[in-house]
Amino acid sequence: KFDVRIKGDYRYELGELAATLNYMAQEIVRSNELKDDFISSISHELRTPLTGIKGWSETLTLGGFDPEETKIGMGIIAKETDRLIGLVEEMLDFSKLQRNEMKLVIGQVNLKELLQETMLNVWAKAEQKGIQIKLEDRTTQPVTVTGDGNRLKQVFLNLVDNAIKFSDENSWIHLVISRTEPGYVLVEVVDTGIGISEEHLNKVKDRFFQVNHQGGGTGLGLAITQQLVDLHHGTMDLHSELGVGTTVSVKLPLSEEEETGNGNNSEPD
Ligand code: ADP
Repeated sequence: KFDVRIKGDYRYELGELAATLNYMAQEIVRSNELKDDFISSISHELRTPLTGIKGWSETLTLGGFDPEETKIGMGIIAKETDRLIGLVEEMLDFSKLQRNEMKLVIGQVNLKELLQETMLNVWAKAEQKGIQIKLEDRTTQPVTVTGDGNRLKQVFLNLVDNAIKFSDENSWIHLVISRTEPGYVLVEVVDTGIGISEEHLNKVKDRFFQVNHQGGGTGLGLAITQQLVDLHHGTMDLHSELGVGTTVSVKLPLSEEEETGNGNNSEPD
């Protein structure tokens, strides 16, 4: 039997220490559970395109198909290969960000143009679900930010992609661009999809976390998006109501030219 005597009354500190250790232990368990979920998601995500590629390549090897059938098979192989490349790139980006090795190629980015390109990129995917995407421009001047155009596009592509994935057929998505605060631009991605419960809302930005595996994916998207926004000195906030929809707001600092008015801009409006 131990008889631990501690001089003075450290009961409060010991209680605090026990609570902290308990919290850390819970975090480790949670993090391991998330990693298990991630491995299961990623295995599933990798297997689906691989099955398609294997099936079609084996079938086409048998020969005897007319050019139209061959074209369909080759098209599926190309599409599924792109999906695999996308998944691998997502994992590489995540790992680069974790290790602080993401290099940005900085330039002056026209944000309105970038949002229009984003809409074009996801147009076919939205069209398949009968979803309409609209850009609502509440500014009157060009909006320029200093940053990496490709990475900023990745931010908005990911947010719109999520909005499409978690929205019903024939719904709508709005991209709203405004200047509500001097020196900043605000972009809101608004959907009327399935929404996220309060319980899950502050977890979805965590790496690997998915409410369920309904939309496929790896659970890395929002974690990557948040870190890319951080690298651009911006902020990202999520507002959502279950069954009503989700709004993701990204606030980015305007380029200095815009701020000082050299960019011929007298807003905020
Ligand atoms: P992924 O989309 O690969 O699962 P994300 O990190 O982008 O990973 O998203 C994490 C989770 O957050 C999703 O699996 C989904 O449960 C939830 N989520 C993200 N965006 C939305 C949205 N617009 N509407 C509803 N749920 C969303």
